[in-house]
Amino acid sequence: MRSRILGYHEIVEGPSDSFYSLSAEQFSHQLAVFNALATAGGPAVDITFDDGHASNARVAAPLLHAHARTARFFVTAGWIGQREGFMSWAELGELARQGHQVGCHGLTHRFLTQLDTADLRAELRDARRLLEDRLGQAVTGISLPGGRCNRRVLDMCAETGYQRVYGSVPWKEGGDRAGIAFEGRLVMNRKMSQAWLQRYVRGDLAPYLAIRTLHTTRETLKSLLGDRLYHRAWSLLTGRSGMQANAR
Ligand SMILES: [Zn+2]
Repeated sequence: MRSRILGYHEIVEGPSDSFYSLSAEQFSHQLAVFNALATAGGPAVDITFDDGHASNARVAAPLLHAHARTARFFVTAGWIGQREGFMSWAELGELARQGHQVGCHGLTHRFLTQLDTADLRAELRDARRLLEDRLGQAVTGISLPGGRCNRRVLDMCAETGYQRVYGSVPWKEGGDRAGIAFEGRLVMNRKMSQAWLQRYVRGDLAPYLAIRTLHTTRETLKSLLGDRLYHRAWSLLTGRSGMQANAR
């Protein structure tokens, strides 16, 4: 089943030069189209953000407010108030007060599939504790850094108190299991045309099948190159720095 949950990263003022960043103008236009579709009886979409970029609070939140929408913000807990270009705790708290949901995107953004059991447990548990302590509210949703997912990761998400896991492909990966629900997402990039996106949201098969084909190709490359080398190549192609810490 194709998901209408959308996964954004940065929203930038002016033109975007990174594959996963959208301009404020592009994002605002998409929100207007989603609202028009819903008003006309069409499908609703859910909006999520990954990583915790400062632009989420400074650029995206005012646009969401202008279009009477709320979103889910999955943040890399260890980067909040610590890392240049990412939100402060005050900004994240303000998003929560505005009615947005806050979720976890790991503590350090390391790919969860690459951690041993002790590190995996600490990464998930400490991130949730830090967010809950600083925000004073329960955090039960997590999006997986780099979309990297397997059974071991999902089981540990359940063990460390998460109830809902968000991936980076628009179908269920790993499926529901005891104590945890998996949500697929369409990861947004600046190359998606408005017409393509509308076809996708309306449920046309062609854009969905194109995503599945691209995913199969990428998974094949990943298995040929190994995940680390694959990720370096993909980061270079998409204008990211090549550091795992900056991965989607
Ligand atoms: Zn990420």
